[in-house]
Amino acid sequence: DHAVQVSNASMVFNAGTTSEVAALSDVDLTVDPGEFVSLIGPSGCGKSTLLRLVANLLDPTAGTVSVNGKPADQARLDQDYGMAFQKSGLFDWRTVSKNIELPLELKGWDKKRRAERAAEMLELVKLPDRGNHMPWQLSGGQQQRIAIARALAAHPPLLLMDEPFGALDEMTREHMQAELLQICAATSTTVVFVTHSIPEAVYLSNRVVVMSPGPGRITDIIDVDLGQH
Ligand code: ADP
Ligand code: ADP
Repeated sequence: DHAVQVSNASMVFNAGTTSEVAALSDVDLTVDPGEFVSLIGPSGCGKSTLLRLVANLLDPTAGTVSVNGKPADQARLDQDYGMAFQKSGLFDWRTVSKNIELPLELKGWDKKRRAERAAEMLELVKLPDRGNHMPWQLSGGQQQRIAIARALAAHPPLLLMDEPFGALDEMTREHMQAELLQICAATSTTVVFVTHSIPEAVYLSNRVVVMSPGPGRITDIIDVDLGQH
């Protein structure tokens, strides 16, 4: 099975109104297991929309999306992937550790294992002393690191990331990029990664999908195989 298969997908927002936007038209994207694919392109070209279709946060207006050979909604129910987006999406009523443990709870891990894994993930993102804090007590960049820790906690075979390092300073970003590459190499994790940074895409990926808004906002996709990894 493909890790991700998007076929003939279109996404029209506010269809039939004066604010109609065709964000994606007839897009195909296939990602094989173990690939690290970046989606790049200018602001507004539809990168986030495409990733949100894969994550089943949006339903396409036409076309199909499957993940691990399953319909996207089933893959979401089965917790087949971890997600980290620009906005951290942490739950404000849960401590940092309890946020990281959430996917582990959904997978039925027992309390002791969850706590151990959360501590390990806090080490990875270099925030070992923040487990008992509330998310709003952390800076934007620290919140983003916790969201990455949560995305990685359950060892998902697929990661969906939308500018996950956007709020990080240069040093922390390089640390997180290196950790991500190491995790992917060690565990054959598949990644679909949205960025508007060409250097970041080239550094991290083995395939870059370049999206450009064409006439009438039809999105063109150019596939570049970097042949690394
Ligand atoms: P990118 O991630 O490449 O910056 P997006 O996927 O966020 O692009 O947006 C693609 C287009 O879809 C943009 O024109 C944007 O304004 C529009 N869009 C995205 N989300 C919505 C939404 N929820 N409602 C209406 N329009 C949207
Ligand atoms: P784009 O339109 O390219 O998707 P945005 O307008 O969403 O970009 O974001 C502009 C900049 O702000 C980006 O460099 C992004 O990394 C950063 N950014 C977006 N969301 C956050 C956030 N929650 N915390 C910190 N930085 C953010």
